[in-house]
Amino acid sequence: MKKIAILGSTGSIGTQTLEIVEQNPDIEVTALAAGSNIRLLEQQARKFCPALVCAWEEEKARELKVLLADRPVRVVWGMDGLLEVATHPQAEILVTAIVGMLGIRPTIAAMEAGKDIALANKETLVTAGHKIIPLAKEKGVKVLPVDSEHSAIFQCLNGEDKKAVHKLLLTASGGPFRGWSREQLAKVQVEDALKHPNWNMGRKITIDSSTMVNKGLEVMEARWLFGVGMDQVQVVVQPQSVIHSMVEFEDGAVMAQLGVPDMKLPIQYALYYPERRPLPGERLDFAKLGNITFEEPDMEVFRGLKLAYEAGKRGGSLPTVYNAANEYAVARFLKKEISYLTILDMIQGAMEHHQVVEQPNVEQILAAERETYEYIESRW
Ligand code: NDP
Repeated sequence: MKKIAILGSTGSIGTQTLEIVEQNPDIEVTALAAGSNIRLLEQQARKFCPALVCAWEEEKARELKVLLADRPVRVVWGMDGLLEVATHPQAEILVTAIVGMLGIRPTIAAMEAGKDIALANKETLVTAGHKIIPLAKEKGVKVLPVDSEHSAIFQCLNGEDKKAVHKLLLTASGGPFRGWSREQLAKVQVEDALKHPNWNMGRKITIDSSTMVNKGLEVMEARWLFGVGMDQVQVVVQPQSVIHSMVEFEDGAVMAQLGVPDMKLPIQYALYYPERRPLPGERLDFAKLGNITFEEPDMEVFRGLKLAYEAGKRGGSLPTVYNAANEYAVARFLKKEISYLTILDMIQGAMEHHQVVEQPNVEQILAAERETYEYIESRW
C-alpha cells in the first residue's frame, strides 16, 4: 500500500491526484490540506478517509470540524497544520499541489521527515532550489516532478547518463496570445487570459501561462531538478502541446516524450515511479493530429520569459523577487485592479529595485517576498 499526503487537495492538481487514487486501490490518503474550500475538503475526507485534514483559516477549520464530527479525523489549521499534514507519520510521499511560496516550509519539513516529494508547487524550487536539492541528497529522498514538462524530461532521462545531457528543450504552447503584439496584449482582460488553448489548470498558472511567466518559472525549476545551467534550458514553442519536452544529448540525439495534454499521466508517473501503470483516457492519434509545429518564443513581447532568464542567471534572492512580484501582480490582475501588462512592469520594477542576497536561507527568502510586496504596494 502506497501512502500519500496532499497539500492543495481541492485544486486542479489535487483533485486529479485524488482521481488517480480512486483508480488505484493500492494507494491510501493519510492527510489532506486545502485553503478555504471546506465543502470539497469535507467530501474528500468522507470519500478518502484521511486521519488528518487542514484548512488554512482557523474559523474554516472549526466549521470543518463540525461538518466532520461523525468521522474519526483530526482537523488542524494554518502553517502549523500544513506542517503536520506534510510530515504525517504514515505518509511516504507528499504531493505539493498548493499554489505559491507557501509551499516552501512544508516541503522542507516533509523532506526532513524522510518523505519523497511529488512536486507540482514549482515556486518552491524556483525560490529555494539551492536548499531543496542538496537537502534531498542529504536525506536520501526523491523529488519527483509533476509538472508535465519536467516529467517529460525525467522520463527522457530514464536510464541515461546525466553527464551526457547537452541541453533540455522545454516546450511551451505559447498560450492564448501567441503571435500577438504588445499593443494587442495591452487590451487583454482577465476572461481572455483565463482561456488556455490546451490545458485546463488553476487560475494563477493559467494567467502565468498566458504571460509565459509560467515557462520562465519552469526554466528555473528545470535547472534545479536536473542540475544544469540556465543556458542549457531552451524554450521551444510547440503550439499543439503534444511534445511535453525533450532532451538533447552530447551525440546530437534528441529524446522526446509525447502524449495528450493530461496532467494525470505525470501525476501518476510521480506516484508510482519507476513503475508505469495503465491510465484510461484519450490517446494520441497521429493521423488525426497531422502536424506538430515549432517556433521560437518571442522574448521581446513576452518579457516575462526574458526576465526569468535574467533572474535565474543572477540567482541568489532574485528568483524569489521574480516569483513574489508575479504572485502579487497576478492576484491583483485577477481582481481586475491592474492591467495585464502591469504584471510585467511590476516584476521588472521589483527586480530592478532589489538588492540581491546570495544563497538566501528560508527566512531571507520569505523576507525578500515580503519586501517585494511592500515595494510594489508603495509604487503601484
Ligand atoms: P489551484 O489554484 O487549482 O489549487 C491550489 C490549491 O492550493 C487548492 O487546493 C487551494 O485550496 C490550495 N491553497 C491555496 N491557498 C492555500 C493555503 N493558504 N493553505 C492551504 N492550501 C491552500 O492550483 P493548481 O492545482 O493549478 O496548481 C498548484 C501548483 O501546481 C502550482 O504551484 C502550479 O504552478 C503547479 N502546477 C499546476 C499544473 C496544473 O495543471 N494545474 C501543472 C503544473 C504545475 P482552496 O481550493 O481551498 O483555495
